[in-house]
Amino acid sequence: TTWNVSSRLVALEKGPGVMLTFQDVSHLEQASQMRRDFVANVSHELRTPLTALLGFIETLKGPARNDEGARDRFLTIMEAEAGRMERLVGDLLSLSRVEAEERVRPLNPLDLPGLVRSVVSGLAPLAEEAGITLLTDLPEGTLEIPGDPDQLRQVLVNLTENAVKYSGKGAEVRIRLDPPSYRKRLRTDGIELSVTDTGPGIDPIHIPRLTERFYRVDTHRSREKGGTGLGLAIVKHIVNRHRGRMRIESAPGKGTTFSVVLPVR
Ligand code: ADP
Repeated sequence: TTWNVSSRLVALEKGPGVMLTFQDVSHLEQASQMRRDFVANVSHELRTPLTALLGFIETLKGPARNDEGARDRFLTIMEAEAGRMERLVGDLLSLSRVEAEERVRPLNPLDLPGLVRSVVSGLAPLAEEAGITLLTDLPEGTLEIPGDPDQLRQVLVNLTENAVKYSGKGAEVRIRLDPPSYRKRLRTDGIELSVTDTGPGIDPIHIPRLTERFYRVDTHRSREKGGTGLGLAIVKHIVNRHRGRMRIESAPGKGTTFSVVLPVR
């Protein structure tokens, strides 16, 4: 524990006295340490693609100047590295935006099944390309909850893209919506949105840390798949803003379910 101690001269009945104030500032220390770690992580994540870009530019200006084959190959790699920087900056902006808005609860009504249908049709080409079957289990018609459409879209996209990204070819990804009436036995008035995959699953030791910024089970694999390590941190903040709850269930070799319970009113 870190204490901040201050003293002040005070007038007491029997004459002058000194008042000591002890303030526990451990949480401030912790917050500033977290900020330093975050800046260090961001710098590192940006520097990796930047170093690669500078290296390829150097080679293209020098030794590979007249080598057309090399030029095409290098340009493809450079495009991928620049894309990675673009995704990282985009995710950093999303993260700071949701953090800034976290205290303001969204109140406008939003049709959740409609949103799921639109996200699923948008992600169908990605799933097809990865050889993944995308399935849905949705109630008929509309079902409104108070929510921010762009942010809830992002929750769905991040969870579904992860499921597609980390499950191998031939896997299934199922998106379910369980309205309160289906869930009476759970005694909750929330609507549950879940994304289940039949992918490799996650070792339980990693689960509590998955929503931390830049936490990855396998950094190399995440990078290879175009991950920034920020997707689940963004999801967590959005769910908090909606006063929802998030649950992760997974077992190695048995697939993973990410579910989010959102209040209906
Ligand atoms: P990333 O950009 O690396 O995907 P996320 O914050 O979205 O970052 O996810 C954090 C980590 O959680 C990933 O790097 C991956 O190791 C793991 N993960 C997330 N979703 C799944 C999933 N459906 N199956 C297996 N691992 C997953």
